[in-house]
Amino acid sequence: MNKHKVAIVGSGPAGLAAAIYTSRAEIETTVYAGEEPGGQLTKTTEIENYPGVVGKTGPELMVTMTQQATKFGTNIVYETIRDLNKLKSEYDAVILAMGASPRLLGVGEDKYWGKGFSTCAVCDAAFYKGKNVYVVGGGDSAIEDATALTKFANHVTMLVRGEQMRASVAMQKRLDSYKDQITVMWKTNLVAIKGERVEKLVLDVDGVEQRVMAEGLFFAIGHIPATGFLKNSKVELDIEGYILTQAAKSLNGDGMAEWPTMTNIPGVFAAGDCVDHRYRQAGTAVGMGIQAALDAERWLASQFVR
Ligand SMILES: Cc1cc2nc3c(=O)[nH]c(=O)nc-3n(C[C@H](O)[C@H](O)[C@H](O)COP(=O)(O)OP(=O)(O)OC[C@H]3O[C@@H](n4cnc5c(N)ncnc54)[C@H](O)[C@@H]3O)c2cc1C
Repeated sequence: MNKHKVAIVGSGPAGLAAAIYTSRAEIETTVYAGEEPGGQLTKTTEIENYPGVVGKTGPELMVTMTQQATKFGTNIVYETIRDLNKLKSEYDAVILAMGASPRLLGVGEDKYWGKGFSTCAVCDAAFYKGKNVYVVGGGDSAIEDATALTKFANHVTMLVRGEQMRASVAMQKRLDSYKDQITVMWKTNLVAIKGERVEKLVLDVDGVEQRVMAEGLFFAIGHIPATGFLKNSKVELDIEGYILTQAAKSLNGDGMAEWPTMTNIPGVFAAGDCVDHRYRQAGTAVGMGIQAALDAERWLASQFVR
């Protein structure tokens, strides 16, 4: 009996979790790893909130996930997919798990991942107990991150580019309860970061250079889903470019979908941060990867009798 063949696009937590399930279910599985093998967790240090894993760094966790997938026969190909239609013609089913990249400013922040710089307050706030930290951004998620940081940090300063925030009025009102813990600097752009770790920030405050001491720096200026190559594929995306699965659409009142992780294209499933702009955690990406693998396996069984 010939095995079904599945391609998984992305080697982050969602893609590798899916691969562990499909290859263990004896489906011939190929993971296309893309430009960032292991995904976003390879940018961080210790992971404290992934259940069952204690004392491991992000890169170590992703090496373990990769080994677990290859142990069951997953074939990892270090290539980037640019044409979904071609991929689809070569496999019985495809799972899209390309993640989303945090927006960056290009002021040298790349050097400081895990050294005082992060784009995930939910993940890393607890590492900043008693520290003075800065949050770049003026949207809802920046306020969300700033308030989350107050639980741990000594003080939080928000750097807002303009004279007002993009955040909703309700979120801005929330700041009133944090007057002692959160300061907002208006018309302020981050220009450079100094130190071995984040130690000092060079700011442009309404045209005037200012240097401030900092012990942590968080960006909350949005994410870009890695779905650019799907533009010509007919896979339905939302306005921000995130993939719309049947589950996402059923939330709008159409009832429970038959294949919650399937896109509008039969046999093409999606999981992880390229679908999810709300939770963005390794644990939730893994959960979605497993759901996509189980949907793909059952869908294949229902379509092709081999
Ligand atoms: C600094 C930082 C710290 C974090 N800390 C934590 C934490 O402590 N705990 C936690 O739960 N979460 C944490 N997160 C969030 C977590 O990393 C993400 O939610 C999770 O990695 C999402 O998994 P994913 O598989 O959906 O996508 P990603 O991890 O983004 O992986 C996407 C994969 O797709 C590949 N890819 C993209 N495009 C293509 C293509 N065209 N062809 C082939 N491959 C492609 C990439 O190379 C990559 O391998 C952190 C994130 C960051 C940035």
